[in-house]
Amino acid sequence: MAAREKIGVYPGTFDPITNGHLDIIARGAKLVDRLVVAVAASSGKNPVAELDERVALTREVLAETAQETGTIIEVRPFSTLLVQFTREVGASVILRGLRAISDFDFEFQLAGMNYRLDPSIETVFLMASERHQFISSRFVKEIALLGGDVSSFVPPLTERHLDAWVKKQREP
Ligand code: ADP
Repeated sequence: MAAREKIGVYPGTFDPITNGHLDIIARGAKLVDRLVVAVAASSGKNPVAELDERVALTREVLAETAQETGTIIEVRPFSTLLVQFTREVGASVILRGLRAISDFDFEFQLAGMNYRLDPSIETVFLMASERHQFISSRFVKEIALLGGDVSSFVPPLTERHLDAWVKKQREP
């Protein structure tokens, strides 16, 4: 009997996608046969891009990672309950990244609630390399807005996207 394909979901706002996300995706890709990167419809305040643009940028950035890892990586938008979306795509694992202690409380609650909602889905936590652990989309946006150099935090495509966003923010 052929082994069942292992599918994982990596959810987030990806507003915008950073080298921290890429690090987690590359690690996650080693654990599953198919990885669905799920871009949440709701983002925080002052988003860099609307949902369809965030999906398009994430897709473009990840085309390379998929080639490098050989894992099938799909990028899909979602606006439903995460466990429902996870079931719909046939996944059994939710991947999340953990940065410092600051992420722990939120992630602990989220994983616990999701487990209660559907105990057949496991949440797996991954840590990015030391180089990428501290990167957050929120700070990347703030640094870009204030004219700082974000090239070591994000892939070149994201940087270009951020440049255009900053210009738009500065328009009167
Ligand atoms: P952010 O928290 O930066 O706005 P997302 O909501 O898109 O990003 O995060 C999706 C997932 O990726 C979360 O589990 C988050 O903790 C994780 N993540 C984001 N950046 C990093 C990073 N630099 N290292 C490890 N995990 C990260």
